[in-house]
Amino acid sequence: MQLDVPSLMLPLGLGYLLFAWQLVLVRRRLAADRALALWTKGCLFLLAGMVALLSRLLLPEWVAVLLGNPLVLCGMLYFNQAVYVFVGKGPVPKWVTGMVVAAVLATPVLLAWPISTRSMVFSVVLMLMAGAPAVHVFRHAWHAESTMRAVGLTMLMLSLAHAARAVQAGLVPDQYLNFFQSSMGQGIVVLLAFLALLGSGVGFVMASLERTAKSMEFLASHDALTGCLNRRSFDPLCEHEVARSRRSGEPLALLVLDLDHFKQVNDLHGHRCGDLVLQGFAQRVQSRLRSGDVFARLGGEEFAVLLPHTDLAGALGVANYLCSAVASNPVPLPDDQLLALTVSVGLAMLTPHGGQAAPLAQRQRATTAAHISPELLYMRADQALYQAKRQGRNQVVVWQAEAVSARGAAVSA
Ligand code: GH3
Ligand code: MG
Ligand code: MG
Repeated sequence: MQLDVPSLMLPLGLGYLLFAWQLVLVRRRLAADRALALWTKGCLFLLAGMVALLSRLLLPEWVAVLLGNPLVLCGMLYFNQAVYVFVGKGPVPKWVTGMVVAAVLATPVLLAWPISTRSMVFSVVLMLMAGAPAVHVFRHAWHAESTMRAVGLTMLMLSLAHAARAVQAGLVPDQYLNFFQSSMGQGIVVLLAFLALLGSGVGFVMASLERTAKSMEFLASHDALTGCLNRRSFDPLCEHEVARSRRSGEPLALLVLDLDHFKQVNDLHGHRCGDLVLQGFAQRVQSRLRSGDVFARLGGEEFAVLLPHTDLAGALGVANYLCSAVASNPVPLPDDQLLALTVSVGLAMLTPHGGQAAPLAQRQRATTAAHISPELLYMRADQALYQAKRQGRNQVVVWQAEAVSARGAAVSA
């Protein structure tokens, strides 16, 4: 089988053109995406490189080599940068950049060498340039955006193709007497470059879009200041947990937390410090919760914690623990001042079956509790919270039917 090199280079060049154009269109929507911008530059440089290499059909050989090789190398360097920026975990290794600089500077010298030797050297450089991002993806991005795997695998394929070309050019120099010689090795490399363009390019764009979608999803469901869940995502979760608790008979606890005298923090230290205090508070609470617990900012300086499968004693323990953790860990302000902070907590329970071992009377009373809606559960925790405020703040109050009990009292809802 013969693969005609110029005929294969034409779709490759057109592929880069089409891809770069589409990336420019996508980037209008994702203007801030640096990795996509680098990939676009890579496509444009490789397109220019293809045109320059093909120009030997009309122009002298040295023009094609002096222009084409550096452009292709720069294009590959941009692809490297795009992958390293996207994956993170460090910049493009210095040896890759150094190798590109050396190869560009050496291009005029290489002109004096036979095409087979030039092809061999150039292929070794490209093998390493395609191999570096492939290894980086395998090491650090295999479990991140799934489509990055296509990028890693196709880059590896390109690297291996260049390795094979370098070996072939060294062993069978007769097949590399001129650039367009349609040998199997040459043809396969151009063909694989085309597949790598498709595989890596599409994979990279999909991975970027996957990441953008993930971050938009996160922004829609989380509070931008504190990073905890927002009310929009908390409400359905609360509904879900209430329904699950009713079905399984497992107890469920809801804590509503409100920072004490928070307005004074803003008034005395400014809104920016107020924001830092909210962040510090959220960190203090989040780091003390179990993985199944749900923590959300309901609005302003009011937060909620949902404790599934937790009975009254357990929930009271958690609420008191959070209350004292906040009080004993002041938040550092930018001027190195430490700001003491306290929080009041209202606690309401949902114990649908009154517990497995509950006496009959208690279970009958709990039948009405089984009808507690998420709204009612929240209302009760809120009432208990305001009782805590009335009683002097910095404390936990448990909601109970008759009244609300003070800190530490064991009362069933
Ligand atoms: P209490 O102990 O009774 O809860 O008093 P408080 O001062 O905490 O309550 P109040 O409702 O009077 O004040 C809440 C303040 O929280 C008012 C509002 O400006 C501030 N606040 C709400 N959201 C934010 C925010 O995102 N950042 C900052 N810095 N302040 C906020
Ligand atoms: Mg408050
Ligand atoms: Mg409040």
